[in-house]
Amino acid sequence: MNLLRKNLSEKIIESCLEMVRLGLNQGTAGNISVRYNDGMLITPSGVPYDKLTVDHIVYVSNEHEFEEGKIPSSEWLFHLICYEVRVDCDAVIHNHAINSTAISILNKPIPAIHYMVAASGGYEIPCVSYATFGSPKLAEYVKEGIKKSKAILLQHHGMITCGENLDKALWLAHETEVLAELYLKTLAIQPEIPVLENNEMDIVLGKFSTYGLRVDTDDIKA
Ligand SMILES: [Zn+2]
Repeated sequence: MNLLRKNLSEKIIESCLEMVRLGLNQGTAGNISVRYNDGMLITPSGVPYDKLTVDHIVYVSNEHEFEEGKIPSSEWLFHLICYEVRVDCDAVIHNHAINSTAISILNKPIPAIHYMVAASGGYEIPCVSYATFGSPKLAEYVKEGIKKSKAILLQHHGMITCGENLDKALWLAHETEVLAELYLKTLAIQPEIPVLENNEMDIVLGKFSTYGLRVDTDDIKA
């Protein structure tokens, strides 16, 4: 195994464990990938995170070929689709975090209830339609959603985030879950939630695109 692949695989495993520590993952539901060569490296199917080694991480090519003797996560197809449409992103995270999944059951986007919604790159975090897990139909819905937003909810399922690297994708997943929790808390009090005007969101979106989000591992662990 070359050094780059080894380093990226170690980073995937580290991010899986961090996702658990952040309380974002339920059971073995989540999966994580990074862009690599003409395809991606992704977590395998059915191996608990605390048992993962670099040898378990699977290479899947853009032509949908799996490395021999390894089975990638059942959601490999939508991960690959994310890299196809987000040339600005090299890492993808999926999980069934409780609050985000609760909002997905309500089939609602997360509106601009807080300026941090702009971290997704838009005015809201959209919720894409339901389709069976692992299906081409779900990948099709993900493709449309992730084009518009680096964070999306999947109806009756969970969330996906992407980023320039795993730290940023994981940070965005955590932010999305915090926003989902805020939204649920306010929804419980009143059905109509005040949201920020587009002109205010434009200012924040401009700041994020100009300066970028300053995210490093310390921010995530803070
Ligand atoms: Zn899932």
